[in-house]
Amino acid sequence: MRTSTIIVQVIYYCVGILLIFIPAYCGAFDLTTRSDHGDIRITSQYRNLHPGEIIKISLKMPRFSSARAYFQGRKYAFAPEQGGSTFLLLGLDLDAKPGIQNLDINIDLSTGYTKKYSFKIPVAEWAFSIRRLSVDERYIVPPPEMRERIIKERALVDSVYRSYTPRWLGYGRFIVPSTGSMRENFGERRIFNNTFHSRHRGVDIRSRRGAWVKAANSGKVVLIHNLYYAGNTVIIDHGLGLFSIYCHLSKVLAKEGEFVRKGDIVGNVGSTGRVTGPHLHWGVMLFDRCINPLSLLHLSFDE
Ligand SMILES: [Zn+2]
Repeated sequence: MRTSTIIVQVIYYCVGILLIFIPAYCGAFDLTTRSDHGDIRITSQYRNLHPGEIIKISLKMPRFSSARAYFQGRKYAFAPEQGGSTFLLLGLDLDAKPGIQNLDINIDLSTGYTKKYSFKIPVAEWAFSIRRLSVDERYIVPPPEMRERIIKERALVDSVYRSYTPRWLGYGRFIVPSTGSMRENFGERRIFNNTFHSRHRGVDIRSRRGAWVKAANSGKVVLIHNLYYAGNTVIIDHGLGLFSIYCHLSKVLAKEGEFVRKGDIVGNVGSTGRVTGPHLHWGVMLFDRCINPLSLLHLSFDE
């Protein structure tokens, strides 16, 4: 065998080894390509690819009229383009099934043509912890006079998540909304009073009663309500289908309909609703997808 043949075989072997050790999702949906209309660059940003995580997809291209993505049966619109760049947010729901998921991105060009790109997103399995808790029995079997209230509140909150602001209202990275000890208990499987099972749809920050609760990012206050389970609650719309939720407040300081800036005080930590002590329950929803707020902290946004 000639030396040059051996070298080629060694290179093939080394490349093969490298491919085996590169994580399957590494850059799985990043792409740069040249077209008649200029360079197209699609990049992704995320902390992990398992249930409850959020993904930011950015698109850079000199000339296009609009762009959208299709993922898990839902259509996502990119934010209005600014200087040839835009982004959208995708959510892997708390109950997302592990496996390969298709992501399709369509870009409408100013010429009337549509460019289509497809990506594979490998959603990994994730084991959420189990916790036993004791609460007042009225939060397990609500009194009959409360049932109608609970149904109405569910409908009210769902209608908030169905509202959609097609532009981004946030400013820079998200912040943790309160000081105190953070429990990374998103997705925890909970067994209340040894009988009732539920999932924990946020993270808890233990603080002293009255501690400040800040807006995790800029946005519009779309709901202020005393909810049976969540207590005094504030919901902020950040645009593009993303909402942050602040529960169990002792006092609400924000006003429904007003625009708040990142870091503005929206209320005080309390223990209203189904709680075992004063804390802030911080949740994030992307449309109807339940997202781990801590995965949001990983994303960068232009300021
Ligand atoms: Zn909680």
